[in-house]
Amino acid sequence: MTQTSIRENLLRIQERIAAAAARAGRRSEEITLIGVSKTHPAIAIQEAFQAGVRHFGENRVQEWEVKRVGTNNLPATWHLIGHLQSNKAAKAAKLFHAVDSVDDLAVAQKLNRARAEAGFSAKLRVLLEVRVAQEETKSGVEIAALPELAEKVAALPQLELAGLMCIPPFFGSGAASPADAVRPYFTKLRELRDELKAKLGLPLPVLSMGMSHDFEVAIEEGATEVRVGTALFGGRM
Ligand SMILES: *Cc1c(COP(=O)(O)O)cnc(C)c1O
Repeated sequence: MTQTSIRENLLRIQERIAAAAARAGRRSEEITLIGVSKTHPAIAIQEAFQAGVRHFGENRVQEWEVKRVGTNNLPATWHLIGHLQSNKAAKAAKLFHAVDSVDDLAVAQKLNRARAEAGFSAKLRVLLEVRVAQEETKSGVEIAALPELAEKVAALPQLELAGLMCIPPFFGSGAASPADAVRPYFTKLRELRDELKAKLGLPLPVLSMGMSHDFEVAIEEGATEVRVGTALFGGRM
């Protein structure tokens, strides 16, 4: 993929973000694009940064540990968006600014401890990943267990609980209307966030939802961060 095409892809995505925001009566500045660079080389991250992307998402700690060497310490914000195993938590706490896929208290406690031990002054931003679809075995905290987990994570001093994240089921082109099929999951995440906000008295400004195939619906339902891989970088190897 050449620089022009990442740049062109970005322009097209930005137009789509703006149009979806306008439909929902929102401003496009309220929505942060996270370029999902997993499987793509560091050079592609550099190209996307040159084109204007400032947030990147990776889903494996080890892959990022290797690739970050090739990004020349670009002043971007690095998000871990994939499932985090407990034995990788300490490393993740040092390599990322944000962990958007926390679904377990033990992992959150490890992130908190590692951050303190490494002497970071800034808190690590975390989102709780919610399992919004029951029919599939996916990562994420069960809806019923969310309030208790949120309360405990919010109490960890080195973490900043900023909101919620979800990965709804994928409704391929086989579905009559993939957009209508996925919408209720995004609505649900927003409602869960609103309930938690009231319950915990925390701002919880972030809703990370929407990928290449469904980010416009997610924006209509309140997404503040969209995680876009394929539409920006092209297909994954
Ligand atoms: C890979 C991935 C994405 C991006 O998916 P695309 O369909 O390529 O846009 C978003 N979120 C998570 C958690 C992912 O693992």
